[in-house]
Amino acid sequence: MKPLLTVETAPTQLGLPAALRQQLSHLAEASYPFEACGLLVGRMGDTRIDTVRICPARNLNRERPEDRYLLDPQDFLAADQAARAQGLEIVGFWHSHPNSPAYPSQTDLEAAWEGYSYLIISTTGDGAEGAGAFRSWRLIDNRFLEEAIDTGGN
Ligand SMILES: [Zn+2]
Repeated sequence: MKPLLTVETAPTQLGLPAALRQQLSHLAEASYPFEACGLLVGRMGDTRIDTVRICPARNLNRERPEDRYLLDPQDFLAADQAARAQGLEIVGFWHSHPNSPAYPSQTDLEAAWEGYSYLIISTTGDGAEGAGAFRSWRLIDNRFLEEAIDTGGN
């Protein structure tokens, strides 16, 4: 999967505190060489999405878990209920790309919904976390635009 030649910028910004980023990094490495996936829970504004916590979910894909994921709908429902009980909401989805850059695949594009952040974490299995290991995307008019990530906290 090649990165897109031109990447347009989404009008939104994802707030992802450093502690949550680290948590995601660990989860992504732990499931290597398979894709890890889960939910981002927080608050959604017009141009700013704040992640308050993250929820791991099961990857139900059994055929190609090294480059596909199917987030368990039960985990989605449980995370949604728990978020609402806290006055929060599901603001996005995260998944890892083992040995592949943090750019959305065609499969990611086909499965995406508008109005959510799609955070992708590139993993190599050795704990390394190079530049661009985390990228966030938003589906707008059937295309993914890259969303800035702010790890400075809320
Ligand atoms: Zn993907």
